[in-house]
Amino acid sequence: MIVALAAVAGIATLAGCDGRERAGAREAARPAPSRERPRLESTPPPPAGRAVSPGDPRAVAAAQAFLRDPVQREACGPYALITESAAARRAEWVSLCAAIAEPFEAEYRRRLGVPLHHPPAGTIVLFSERSRFRAYAASDPALPGGYAGFSLAAWGLVALPVGDIAAEEIARTLAHELAHLAHRRAFGVELPPWLAEGLADAVGDSAGPAGFAPFEGFAGVEGIRRRLVLGYRSGRADSLERLVSLDRDRFDRGTVSYDYEQSALFARFLLLDTRLAPRFRDWLAAQALRGESPTPNLRTSLASDWPELERRFRDWLEPGLGAGGPLEGRNP
Ligand SMILES: [Zn+2]
Repeated sequence: MIVALAAVAGIATLAGCDGRERAGAREAARPAPSRERPRLESTPPPPAGRAVSPGDPRAVAAAQAFLRDPVQREACGPYALITESAAARRAEWVSLCAAIAEPFEAEYRRRLGVPLHHPPAGTIVLFSERSRFRAYAASDPALPGGYAGFSLAAWGLVALPVGDIAAEEIARTLAHELAHLAHRRAFGVELPPWLAEGLADAVGDSAGPAGFAPFEGFAGVEGIRRRLVLGYRSGRADSLERLVSLDRDRFDRGTVSYDYEQSALFARFLLLDTRLAPRFRDWLAAQALRGESPTPNLRTSLASDWPELERRFRDWLEPGLGAGGPLEGRNP
């Protein structure tokens, strides 16, 4: 699952509807501070979150052009849903929206511990044939492509192929892509890829046709856990320090990559580990505020060092794995 926030970063900047402007307007309406009032420095920083479009009309039209008529448009929780699917599958989408789109807000807040600003919004476009989804993804170099679906947070658009895909996979992908829209409302800026993908997986990996399963252990990620364990054992999986240093241009490149697996599992580890989770959530909350520049360092915020984090993470993946090989990775 690939998301091209980078491709639309310029548009995100131009959108201009963010917390800072509103906070500024509130400041202007207040009376001038007197000497008895709290110092300005004590004012908490405003939230960093930006609004998400209900669906940029040109972006939605470009996607819709690849759907077969008749196209149906309806509500999916707080989002709009556009689909070409036959009426026989409408009940399936209604059920999916009730199971995933409606409880999504609460689930995102609960798991990540960050507030969401601005109303939930966006348009979900479902393609009943994967070939037409791919044709759409290939039609514009600004689109990210991708096999399972993608989202464009600045345009408020989620595009998913659904025709020959199991309901379980559709639910996971939908929750993952909605999380990318939510990242914009929580953090405002493009997150490092490991964090954007890892947090989206923390929401998406336990989603299913019946809703969200409890966020615990390796539920929903057992397959990628096994793959990453084998990657560490073979010496092919790299270090966490390298993972968190990657920008979009270097993320998930190369013929063998464990970047998605590491991102999903490292974010999950940080959200579930009893000692680290409160520190990680505090660090996330700091990312959701403006004025936190330079960004607080993750490692120091966790009060740990990379060898210790590697060891604890690998032992969490599989007991004893942390002592089984070089902890620095191949290319830290
Ligand atoms: Zn993603």
